[in-house]
Amino acid sequence: MKYAEIPNKKDPNPTDNNKEKTSPQSPNNGSWLWGIIAAVVFLLLINNFLAPAITERAMVQTDYGTFISKVEQDSVKQVVIANNQIIYTTDSCTYRTGSVDDPNLVDRLLAAGSPNKDGKIEFVKKIENQRSPIIDFLMWWILPGLIFWLLFRFMSSRMGRSASEGGGLGFGNFMSFGQSGAKVYADTDIKTRFADVAGQDEAKASLQEMVDFLHNPQKYTALGAKLPKGALLVGPPGTGKTLIARAVAGEANVPFFSMSGSEFVQMFVGMGAAKVRDLFSEASKKAPCIIFIDEIDAIGKSREGSFSNNDEREQTLNQLLTEMDGFEGDKGVIILAATNRPDSLDKALLRPGRFDRRIQMELPDLEGRKAIIQVHLNHVKHSDIDLDVVGRATAGSSGADLANIVNEAALRAVRQGKDAITTADLEESVETVMAGEQRKNAVISPAEKRIIAYHEVGHAMVAAAQTQSAPVHKITIIPRTSGALGYTMQVDEGEHYLYSRQELLNKIATLTGGRVAEEIICNTCTTGASNDIEQATNLARAMVTRYGMSDRYGMMALESQGNRYLDSGSRLACSDNTATDIDNEVRSIIAQAKDKAAAFITERMDQMHAVAEYLLEKETITGDEFMAILNNGQPAIQA
Ligand code: ADP
Ligand code: MG
Ligand code: ZN
Repeated sequence: MKYAEIPNKKDPNPTDNNKEKTSPQSPNNGSWLWGIIAAVVFLLLINNFLAPAITERAMVQTDYGTFISKVEQDSVKQVVIANNQIIYTTDSCTYRTGSVDDPNLVDRLLAAGSPNKDGKIEFVKKIENQRSPIIDFLMWWILPGLIFWLLFRFMSSRMGRSASEGGGLGFGNFMSFGQSGAKVYADTDIKTRFADVAGQDEAKASLQEMVDFLHNPQKYTALGAKLPKGALLVGPPGTGKTLIARAVAGEANVPFFSMSGSEFVQMFVGMGAAKVRDLFSEASKKAPCIIFIDEIDAIGKSREGSFSNNDEREQTLNQLLTEMDGFEGDKGVIILAATNRPDSLDKALLRPGRFDRRIQMELPDLEGRKAIIQVHLNHVKHSDIDLDVVGRATAGSSGADLANIVNEAALRAVRQGKDAITTADLEESVETVMAGEQRKNAVISPAEKRIIAYHEVGHAMVAAAQTQSAPVHKITIIPRTSGALGYTMQVDEGEHYLYSRQELLNKIATLTGGRVAEEIICNTCTTGASNDIEQATNLARAMVTRYGMSDRYGMMALESQGNRYLDSGSRLACSDNTATDIDNEVRSIIAQAKDKAAAFITERMDQMHAVAEYLLEKETITGDEFMAILNNGQPAIQA
């Protein structure tokens, strides 16, 4: 399984001399700094406060009178006069006493004679401030500074961590806004190749030219040809845009600078622009190379028409535009960007000289899906796989879905103790991805089970009764974790690009088949049809408003669609009267389809009962078994 496409984050050998090592934020640096600071503070405290306090405590305290009398008795040898105390030593001991404003003290001391020291008392006035000026300076200026600096650093690093993933805002960047502190580093050894991207041949062909240019630019410059500076990869999510961008770098064997658009949008105005500048200046040092901006719509959103103007985003976009203009085309820096909302991009980004080449990545067709499944199967152990079956069952899936399906199949095979994936594993995992896991131990009453069975057979019967309808592939009444209590799978023979009006009407009829069977056979109607109803309504509405298939409005567009890659809703573009009319039209389309379905089912009552009985017993039946019962009342395969 290959999910190696998460770029950079844990890259073991980033080339850009890895800022992390030199930054003050690195955890090693931090801890020894803390250690030294703690030691200095400790020593200063001992020297200045603790040590004097301890020695003072050891002295005997006396009153001033005692001191004077001792002086007069000549028993004092040494006197130290401090600001607020006097320390004196006799033969036996050191004493201290509070100092008194005594102008005669010096005379007394001079007058008194000590027997040992030529009749003199040694006396000094203590210079109170004993600490060296250096220590003082440290204490009053450096230490508070250090404490503030550490506090600030601590707080800003926390802010940075929460503001941008990966901790972009260190202290250093906080002070100098010029540097973004973004860890701009390139992936130099990308293993992804075009061979890892299945299908998407047009995209590959277009990008192959860029690879070629990066290999030998002379070929192009000799002729005076300029290559596009940038290409914009456009397509629905999961179609391999990120993958193919990495493949370009891998094929060209050049450094790959990758950043997501959202990484540029920062808490502070100007940070994003700084990041863009950093990115481009790093890249130009490493040319030839590729800059890849994923999800560029995060910064490249159209500036007009948005009420809340986002200064930060706008500045970032402007910086990007400027940087792209400042680039010489022959430098060998190619800028790729990916988005799934091209309609919202700023026009300035798309003008020639910037992302002038647009590479469309569409959802894969049958052949594409088969190729993608094959690419992912290459990474897992598998037996002989019928790619066609799996490919047809996955219509509408993106490359990412298919990668997920293969992975699910592998997990399933492991759970079941198999040593290779089979076609059945893949088919089951298609259903798992679409409808969730089987809930084998869900308890459903026989009465409900019967309704579910007839509902599903109703769908299948209507589908089978119509000629232009996809064949039934499978009917199951095993509940799934998604909440589905059963479903009927139809799989088209080949690839479908167009749907005719008749096919759409058939689809709607098939969707109503479930409810019709409930009503006719079980004399009830249940909530189980809600999804069918929703789908049928959407189809009928689209027929009227978007496909121009109603008699009344013909080819008039009544809805404008939002983003076509993201299934965003569409807006009605008509008057209120027309909207009411549309509703009527939709209702009548569905009602007609339902009548048709009811006719099919009443005609085939015997077959309905036979299939439902068989389904209740087996819980899952294949399309072949289903057709066999329809044709001669007996399933061909007795499982
Ligand atoms: P996008 O960026 O378009 O949303 P990605 O490039 O991230 O999609 O694709 C996600 C994953 O889907 C890829 O890592 C890959 O495993 C798989 N995938 C998508 N398209 C293809 C393809 N054409 N061939 C092989 N794998 C694909
Ligand atoms: Mg992507
Ligand atoms: Zn249904």
